[in-house]
Amino acid sequence: MNSIKNIDLHNHSRVSDGLLAPAELVQLAASNGVTTLALTDHDDVDGLEEAALAANSLGVEFIKGVEVSVTWAQHTIHVLGLNIDSRESTLLGGLAGIRSGRMERAERIARELAKAGISGALEGALRYAHNPNIVARPHFARYLVEQGVARDVPAVFKRFLVKGKAGYVKHCWAAMGDAVSWIRGAGGIPVLAHPGRYSLNRSAMDFLMDEFVEAGGRGIEVVTCNHTQEQVLFFADQAVRRGLMASRGSDYHGPGESRLEPGKLPPLPPQCIPVWQAWDDTSLH
Ligand code: AMP
Ligand code: MN
Ligand code: MN
Ligand code: MN
Repeated sequence: MNSIKNIDLHNHSRVSDGLLAPAELVQLAASNGVTTLALTDHDDVDGLEEAALAANSLGVEFIKGVEVSVTWAQHTIHVLGLNIDSRESTLLGGLAGIRSGRMERAERIARELAKAGISGALEGALRYAHNPNIVARPHFARYLVEQGVARDVPAVFKRFLVKGKAGYVKHCWAAMGDAVSWIRGAGGIPVLAHPGRYSLNRSAMDFLMDEFVEAGGRGIEVVTCNHTQEQVLFFADQAVRRGLMASRGSDYHGPGESRLEPGKLPPLPPQCIPVWQAWDDTSLH
């Protein structure tokens, strides 16, 4: 029997800033040949039940996940929680705390955009936010595209909503230690998401990985949509040196907004210990 697996552990639905319903995401992943899928919405677990049902009916192994927003040394860092118990109360309380800050931040983003001459952004973003508890920058970006200020979402992020540009605001997300301990407390594996995307120099990156391990982090996302081959090899090597497991995830957000569809990623380099080994081996938790 052909047992080649296609494992994709980082995907979004419209419960956060993705475009598809959880069941639609699972259908797309299944049609791409994904055998194991994690839904990892930002700061919310509301899509997991629908996705799990769809995965079950399509014969896809489903992993419950979440992507937790963290502020570390004034940088926004994302920590994936994989294979979590999505009913664990401390994790749920922590995520609720993060979500409660999002609306107030959205109001500040809208005020900054208004100063730059773009009005109605809060209402506009909310029209794109399927889940009003998660208003995220892509919802603003979609509104800015609608208003004709940029061609598409990536073009918005070149001119707006990022440090130094109109519509950017500082925000304080969860502490790294809290995010990691909520995930572990819910039986999950904390994985440092897309490390190649942070603007950190080599020594700050080392410090981030040191502190992540110190806090109880267990894995690094080695293969993800925007990592170059050099970054894949660099983070694979870092994972091996630091005794961390390696993850593979597309960070898919929806048609037209993502470079890669679910499952369309290169494999992990062979020296890596795949994070999915931890599902069956609690000594790796
Ligand atoms: P937020 O959690 O509200 O700060 O929104 C963060 C999300 O914005 C990320 O998860 C991405 O989906 C999206 N994003 C951030 N930077 C970019 C970028 N440069 N291009 C496209 N999407 C981006
Ligand atoms: Mn996102
Ligand atoms: Mn992320
Ligand atoms: Mn993501």
